[in-house]
Amino acid sequence: MVKLLISGMVKYKVTEYFKSLSHEGSGLWKQFYPDPRESIFKDYELEDPLSENKYLVSPRLVHRYKDRVLMLVTDQCLMYCRHCFRKDFIDRGINEISDSEIDLACEYIKKHSEVHEVILSGGDPLTISECKLSSVLKKIRQIRPGLIIRIGTRIPVVEPGLITDGLINILKENSPLWFLLQINHPDELTPDSVAALKRLNMAGVGLLNQSVLLKGINDSVDILKRLYQGLLEVMVKPYYIFQGDLARGTSHLRVPISRGLEIINELKGEISGIAMPIYAVDIPGGGGKIHLNRESIINEDDEFYYLQNSDGFVGKYPKE
Ligand SMILES: *Cc1c(COP(=O)(O)O)cnc(C)c1O
Repeated sequence: MVKLLISGMVKYKVTEYFKSLSHEGSGLWKQFYPDPRESIFKDYELEDPLSENKYLVSPRLVHRYKDRVLMLVTDQCLMYCRHCFRKDFIDRGINEISDSEIDLACEYIKKHSEVHEVILSGGDPLTISECKLSSVLKKIRQIRPGLIIRIGTRIPVVEPGLITDGLINILKENSPLWFLLQINHPDELTPDSVAALKRLNMAGVGLLNQSVLLKGINDSVDILKRLYQGLLEVMVKPYYIFQGDLARGTSHLRVPISRGLEIINELKGEISGIAMPIYAVDIPGGGGKIHLNRESIINEDDEFYYLQNSDGFVGKYPKE
């Protein structure tokens, strides 16, 4: 079994396109430009903050929730997000999923009839060749009818030119498909990215967005309001806004939960229900995702909040 995580170090990567939209210190810039504070490792930060290794059931398959699995089809991305919770997995020489790894993953899904949804992730699944992508999607489709496929990607906003006719055709052939985007700032919505999103929409791809709440980038009601109203205008449904995961060297990007709750409450009074994402956090130590609100905090001490999932698992998350 492939070990997902190898000790991290600062690596920098961004597309010319995304860089051209940003200026030093802007909300886009801070998503890709390394910060000296990334060398600060807190003792509660982890290489694998979601404990995905614990749920690895095949070399490329994470089965954490009953009816859905996550397939890690590549460790490559066109931009390294400074806040990435898989930063210790990205670009560590694991590369594109092989044909035999696809078959192993599909065999597992075939045996587990409770699986109803397959989420392609990585890395960015749209960095693999169109031929490989087409083959992965076809093999998943052949497992059984009715399987839902989601693709987690930032390509439409990081390199919109990659949403080619060839890709659109592959997506159309494999309907129903959902894209789970990650757009964190309204400035990521440009004429180019909006055109790419429209093409996806026209191809019948369902578009959802998950953002990460990031200090100094989008931790303001005004910015989030512009982001979520802008997303609705281009037919993207805001799905989640995540509290930052405890990836190593990301403390300067995390917004305190107390502030996050304030922002979310204020935002609710500003935008429509369909523009509103769910504020969520992955409970450190493999507790999984929970909706974050006052009720999910069952206890606190000077340093930590204690969060509980529906199975009764309790994990702690730092207050600052
Ligand atoms: C987030 C996640 C999912 C999908 O969860 P949803 O709440 O359905 O979006 C599936 N598997 C893993 C491992 C995840 O982290």
